[in-house]
Amino acid sequence: MFPVHLLSDPDEQLPEDSNGLSYVVGSNGIFRRVETPVFRATLRTDGVPHLAEVQEGMEYLLPRIPSVVAMRMIRFFRLVHLAHGTEAMAFIAFNPDACEFRVEMRPQRVRDMQCEFGPQFNPDDGFVLVGTAHSHADGRVFTSQQDFIVNSGYDGLHLTFGTFGTSVVDAMAVLAVDRRLVPLPLEKVFAGLTATQSLERYIPQRVPRWVRSAADFAQRLADAIRTVGRPVERMREGGPKGSGKDYFLELPPRADPSSADPDPKWLGLVTLGK
Ligand SMILES: [Zn+2]
Repeated sequence: MFPVHLLSDPDEQLPEDSNGLSYVVGSNGIFRRVETPVFRATLRTDGVPHLAEVQEGMEYLLPRIPSVVAMRMIRFFRLVHLAHGTEAMAFIAFNPDACEFRVEMRPQRVRDMQCEFGPQFNPDDGFVLVGTAHSHADGRVFTSQQDFIVNSGYDGLHLTFGTFGTSVVDAMAVLAVDRRLVPLPLEKVFAGLTATQSLERYIPQRVPRWVRSAADFAQRLADAIRTVGRPVERMREGGPKGSGKDYFLELPPRADPSSADPDPKWLGLVTLGK
């Protein structure tokens, strides 16, 4: 075999190579170092032909998100859509030791097709941030230019939900790694999904004006969602490469239906910008 030198100091003197061939790895790539009685050269190279080929790839490792957690996110996005008609943002945290997911909510300012939120953060109680989830209000799901910036700025899982004006929620999951976005099948990301035949999208009645104007509208909306919605969400795999497959997202048998309600405090973190 030939020596491989890892160059950590630019002034480091590399040893003379008795067999005339070695490789140097530095911050700017891999270099082949050749030494003959006539010359010594350091030449940039793409790889080492003597070795086996390395396959590039990425694998999604998180367990599936429990339906209770997914449903809380979806219902929060529906509440924001009802209250403000806008999109919103949530963060997904995971505790590897307890193998538990949690939705993290941050103060945010929403507008028509925009959502501004504070700088990146990390929980400090054993949970780590593993991704984001955001809604497209009543729009379809796709990767907008802004989504590309946000998603590729944080390596991890990114969920997009949309078409909140209908009863079937569009959903899209991508894994962002090194500025590349890889679509993930919903069945790999969410637990509690049952594939079903194509679902009808019906447009629900518009929200009555008293709901919007009432001082305690947040509570009323939460009550409306609790009483109207059985703990089942209808979901369609969306996005440019989406299969268009439809699913029911259901809570595990005997789960408390109210566990799928969004935290009442979350809506208070969302302010409508002008
Ligand atoms: Zn988006």
